[in-house]
Amino acid sequence: MSLIRPVALYGYPLEHTYSPLMHNGGFERLGLPFVYLALPVLPAKLQDAIRGFRAMEFAGANVTIPHKEKVLPLVDVLTEDARQVKAVNTLYWKEPGVLAGDNTDIYGFRRSLIEAGIDIHGRSAVILGAGGAARAVALVLAEFQAKEICFLTRHPHAVENLIQDLSPSYPHTLWEYHLKSSAAFANVLTRSSLVVNATPVGMSPQTDKSPLSENLVSLLPDTARIYDLVYNPDPTLLMTLGAQRGLKVYGGLDMLIYQGAKSFELWTGEPSPVKDIRDLMRDKLYG
Ligand code: NAP
Repeated sequence: MSLIRPVALYGYPLEHTYSPLMHNGGFERLGLPFVYLALPVLPAKLQDAIRGFRAMEFAGANVTIPHKEKVLPLVDVLTEDARQVKAVNTLYWKEPGVLAGDNTDIYGFRRSLIEAGIDIHGRSAVILGAGGAARAVALVLAEFQAKEICFLTRHPHAVENLIQDLSPSYPHTLWEYHLKSSAAFANVLTRSSLVVNATPVGMSPQTDKSPLSENLVSLLPDTARIYDLVYNPDPTLLMTLGAQRGLKVYGGLDMLIYQGAKSFELWTGEPSPVKDIRDLMRDKLYG
């Protein structure tokens, strides 16, 4: 009988995660000898947790808030994606003894954007929020040669760091931000092809909240699209306002599934059974 290999999720707190359902569902579906465990780790204990991970030869891990940046110096190598956004959400063994950090949110957003047929080349985009997910989104939009990326956020510090980190590699994109909706921000909306919500606003249980008011949504061009990274509920209020305005709208489930699919493959060497995972997650989240 083969030994069961653990995969960890490190974060704090970890009450509302769907990752164990997603990954244990995938392991079970393919009959793989892995188990995914949500292990809450306090910030002061992260180094100990990674030492234990190495000693016990876990097969891999996900890393979430508040450890995504703090884990960088604790791995041996970073993928190019993780290096660019300075955040890791997946640990895997690049080779025996060499622990690598990747950011599969980037892959997840990139793949879902391609599958949705959203083309941002030469166009303007607005990102709501400036946290970890906003970094992943911004990198992908810049890679796809967005002409302009404008953030709407509450504090200057995070967004200034974000722009400082990413803009040198993408000088052809115009990087800007607004701290609250203003006439200048409204003007950006009137020429935006895509709005991405990378804040938790609208997430269950606060389903009556939208990060953009109906008035602001009404300023978007008829061909604009709205992508909400929030995947619970589906649709979010922002998506409903967009759909009422006649826009194409997208929820965060595909990104969630695809970021998980890449991590799954890095740990097991097997492609994730994406279709089964989508059915499983839909059933659990919206069934
Ligand atoms: P994060 O690092 O904590 O960043 C959250 C961002 O949202 C920050 O800029 C924060 O601004 C802003 N924010 C928080 N509450 C706000 C409010 N009430 N009004 C306006 N702005 C607010 O979180 P994250 O990891 O980037 O995740 C953001 C969202 O994306 C979450 O809902 C998460 O579930 C979702 N997400 C989805 C996927 C997916 O696969 N679909 C992947 C990653 C994340 P302050 O700094 O001012 O607080």
